[in-house]
Amino acid sequence: MPELPEVETIRRQLVPVVEGRTLHSLDVADARWCAPLAPAEVRAALEGRTVEALRRRGKYLIWALEGDVFLLVHLRMTGTLLVDPPPGTRYERVRFVFADDGPQLAFCDARRFGTGELALGPDALAAFLDARLGIEPLGPDFTGAALRAAARGRRAPVKAFLLDQRNVAGVGNIYADEALFRAGIHPLRPVGRLTPAQWDALRDEIVTVLEAGIDAGGSTIDDFRHTDGVYGAFQHEFLVHRRRGEPCLTCGREIVKFVAAGRGTYACESCQPRPRGVRTRAMAR
Ligand SMILES: [Zn+2]
Repeated sequence: MPELPEVETIRRQLVPVVEGRTLHSLDVADARWCAPLAPAEVRAALEGRTVEALRRRGKYLIWALEGDVFLLVHLRMTGTLLVDPPPGTRYERVRFVFADDGPQLAFCDARRFGTGELALGPDALAAFLDARLGIEPLGPDFTGAALRAAARGRRAPVKAFLLDQRNVAGVGNIYADEALFRAGIHPLRPVGRLTPAQWDALRDEIVTVLEAGIDAGGSTIDDFRHTDGVYGAFQHEFLVHRRRGEPCLTCGREIVKFVAAGRGTYACESCQPRPRGVRTRAMAR
């Protein structure tokens, strides 16, 4: 599932392709993409407008069009945006056609969970994002103290806290596992019981793994592809994620997999000591 580094990879590749170009038409082949709005409503709001900037917040790709009209695209499980794919490309759901003869864009999505939503005006955009997203991990507000304040008095496991987009925007299953391992924190540690030093370490490691993920062009485990169809490479740099049964690269103990926050979670229980009284539920595979 695309997380912040995958969305940021797509954004950086698309900026030179779309910024400054005028959207001629938006062909929505699958109305579920923009539901509850009808494709005709979305087309009416967007067509004929120039793309002023392509931004990102958390896992949302934000198209800022002239007149303060915003299209918020979320890739969800398997969505991606391909530049100029041939007609009839598999799983194509939406096609962006521009007013010039330059490349078109297609939103392709095998599992069809990806979405396109509208916000009209900067206030609507801010309200949309504020209702859904917490601190931006690559922004200036992301500090150990801010994380600690958000977690104060809460008992959820730290992994569940990180996966909740209302706490930290953009971190998902892969980068949470990698950051917790590097910070030496067990994924099931109750979040209200992390020390200030642990919060500082976790903050730093989240930034490190997200930036490393961006540098590697994201992770490809399932369907994630770049805008030219190329796969990301960060999966080759995983220290614990998807390494069940393999030796920890720090201490040699076997990496284990268990359930945390409902997700398959990988850890080294020597480098990330399990809190007293906490049990792990092993996964069948
Ligand atoms: Zn270890």
